[in-house]
Amino acid sequence: MSKHNCQDAVAQVYFYLDDEIGWFKKARIKRHLKKCPPCEGAFGFESHLKAMVRERLREEPQPEVMDRLRAYLKDNGSDFGR
Ligand SMILES: [Zn+2]
Repeated sequence: MSKHNCQDAVAQVYFYLDDEIGWFKKARIKRHLKKCPPCEGAFGFESHLKAMVRERLREEPQPEVMDRLRAYLKDNGSDFGR
């Protein structure tokens, strides 16, 4: 797993959750999540966050949400955000 894939997967999570990307990208992200526990954890974390954000703001994710996600990944041993 490379940093690149992690960044890509995380960057696409919002679109994934919003069903804004095609099946090919979804499959790619899913494949990455399967072999990358930090990202998989972040994905669940992100789903939760996203639901909260959507409820409260009903608009685009805020930058601090991404910061929290980065912090989470860092705590879980990912190279994301370096
Ligand atoms: Zn990853």
